[in-house]
Amino acid sequence: MKIIGLTGGIASGKSTVSAYLQEKGASIIDADGIAHELLEPGRPLYEAYRNHFGEKILLPDGTLDCRAIGQLVFSDPIERKWLNATAHPLIQQEICQRLQRYQAEKKSVIVLDVPLLFESGWDKMAEKVCLVYVEEKIQLARLMKRNGYGREEAAARIAAQMPWEEKKKRADCLIDNSGSLSSTLRQVDDLWKEWTHDGVS
Ligand code: ADP
Repeated sequence: MKIIGLTGGIASGKSTVSAYLQEKGASIIDADGIAHELLEPGRPLYEAYRNHFGEKILLPDGTLDCRAIGQLVFSDPIERKWLNATAHPLIQQEICQRLQRYQAEKKSVIVLDVPLLFESGWDKMAEKVCLVYVEEKIQLARLMKRNGYGREEAAARIAAQMPWEEKKKRADCLIDNSGSLSSTLRQVDDLWKEWTHDGVS
């Protein structure tokens, strides 16, 4: 059984790689997906955000307006700190539970799909950390296209993250997603062979 940490930068292709790894048989622990589940009405993060920010972060149907929250915390470091301090322990608890479950089920490859893997310290749980990398110019273009951001907003979101050089230094392996999708999937195929045949421990 191997625990692989998967990380990247915004719009680097991490979700694309994670979905492919799942197709190949990996058990994925998706931190963003867990966060979304905990944000559903009645779940703990929903209640915490609603109490803290008030009705202005609710959509007419009563669900959270995640875009509004994103803008609020992006422009205000104090709110961002509050949000992180509130969200992280709840998400961590859920990740731990899933990890224990997959370990008990003796899954062969468990992938920790965590956007801020290094920043949150989850990299220490992984035997290997795999970085989905993309050249910054291409990252900017893909982010603008996917999220409908203007150039400035996209550049600011990229600049707010840990620099690529730092992430590269800390990663054990790199998937370069600057090229075509098929070239990326071939790199994942090679890693998968390594993990499932040669072992990583
Ligand atoms: P992340 O999960 O890291 O934010 P995504 O997997 O969502 O990134 O990819 C970001 C965007 O780039 C998506 O719109 C995706 O369809 C696109 N994309 C990903 N990989 C490639 C690729 N190799 N070539 C072209 N577009 C890609």
